[in-house]
Amino acid sequence: MDSIPKYNIRGIDIWGFQRTVELADYLLADGALKTGMLVAINAEKVILAEQDRALCELIQAAKYKYADGVSIVRSIKRKYSDASYLQRIAGIDLWLALMRRAGARGIPVFLVGGEAGVLAKVERKLMTDWGVKIVGSHNGYFKDEERSTLFQLIQKSGAALVTVALGSPKQEIFMRHCQKVYPKALYMGVGGTFDVFSGKVKRAPKAWQHLGLEWLYRILAQPTRLRRVARLFKYACYHYSGRL
Ligand code: UDP
Repeated sequence: MDSIPKYNIRGIDIWGFQRTVELADYLLADGALKTGMLVAINAEKVILAEQDRALCELIQAAKYKYADGVSIVRSIKRKYSDASYLQRIAGIDLWLALMRRAGARGIPVFLVGGEAGVLAKVERKLMTDWGVKIVGSHNGYFKDEERSTLFQLIQKSGAALVTVALGSPKQEIFMRHCQKVYPKALYMGVGGTFDVFSGKVKRAPKAWQHLGLEWLYRILAQPTRLRRVARLFKYACYHYSGRL
């Protein structure tokens, strides 16, 4: 880890892993999965963290923060002259890479989040098509008072990888609290990944992804996201005025 550079954007230290495979391999180096918390950093999360002190502390405490958003990658390149090699690591691609490795190596996985039907599809597909050992799952619509039972369920399952799809900041809060009960796992927040993997939501076509416009595609495909655009504008102001 010491050889991986770190870049600071608006107070958040982001690891400069070059590509998705590099990060996935790092997390599985020496045959055992690392423990800790993986948080995808994008423009929206930077702004959310500025508005929410608790979220900011959770993000700071996460061991592995990676550049998930294209604007974060652009900002790092603008601020640091040695970062021209950096590419975006999309959370969904990292999740897929980890699932592929989990299936091949028999790593026990626990899934949290999403609607019950979506989660059931994700679980089925992972087990039957990818050979992933799912040791437990729970949909993302539960009451606060049910959380501690769920934490214990995760602990008892012996999962080495816990992927949490509750959206931000819910998933970061959940992971941090669960981690305190059961620290022996790698926690990954995955946002809307289950929706895409189950086929409920379409991912942006490759051309959009290559143009760095996946965020725009998501807004057009799910207009309810429009209210989130204000945060992207705020971040763009930081970027273009060099306040990074
Ligand atoms: N979700 C959930 N419980 C909640 C709120 C959201 O399980 O209380 C799920 C929701 O079903 C969706 C995901 O969390 O699958 C949030 O996806 P979103 O696309 O908003 O996340 P992003 O990728 O933008 O972080």
